[in-house]
Amino acid sequence: MSEKLPAGVQRREFDGSERLATRGEPVYGEPTDGEWRAWNPNRSKLGAMLELGMETGLAGSETVLYLGAASGTTVSHVADFAGPTYAVEFAARPVRDLLETAESRDRLFPLLKDARKPETYAHVVESDVDVIVQDVATRGQARVALENRRFLADDGRLLLAVKARSEDVTREPSAVFEDVRSELEEGYEVLEEKELETYHEDHFGVVAEKVK
Ligand code: SAM
Repeated sequence: MSEKLPAGVQRREFDGSERLATRGEPVYGEPTDGEWRAWNPNRSKLGAMLELGMETGLAGSETVLYLGAASGTTVSHVADFAGPTYAVEFAARPVRDLLETAESRDRLFPLLKDARKPETYAHVVESDVDVIVQDVATRGQARVALENRRFLADDGRLLLAVKARSEDVTREPSAVFEDVRSELEEGYEVLEEKELETYHEDHFGVVAEKVK
């Protein structure tokens, strides 16, 4: 597979198998090799998207708005290779861990905020963010992406993980995904989509570009 990994992300060997890795303090008990820490795609939708060869367009050093940061499993890897990384999470408990994760990462800015209310963090987050990474796993995932589109630079990208069952547990995941996708098209052009099944059941990964 020809790979376009962001600068600061490498494939390295851990315990005899090749894994994606970034350089930073370990966060979730992941294997390390010197400064490098393995990025577990089973615990990270963005990690899965990279493992599956999706063209995220990430080059490294981008400004990132991360929605649904939880305790920082994925956003810690992002902050290892990206530029300023704003991490929005509305549950207080994981934000406590996220704050700890940010202690060794001076480009990671945790925000205890609701991603459905971007006006509450508009005074903190830059208005020309290069990438939105979203993994909120709640109903209304397309709406969250659309509401936060205001922060994206004109050529900005959305890297979205859609959890179909969060929208409707009773419907076929692919049908739910079709609805999410068509709502997204109100403000984004979808460039690539892939089932993340190998790593995350009933999840879809989407790479999209802001429509001007
Ligand atoms: N992205 C995380 C990772 O890979 O490390 C895991 C995220 S988890 C699947 C989804 C998170 O989104 C939860 O921590 C949840 O509290 C958060 N979330 C859901 N809706 C949200 C909202 N409206 N605003 C902010 N966070 C939200």
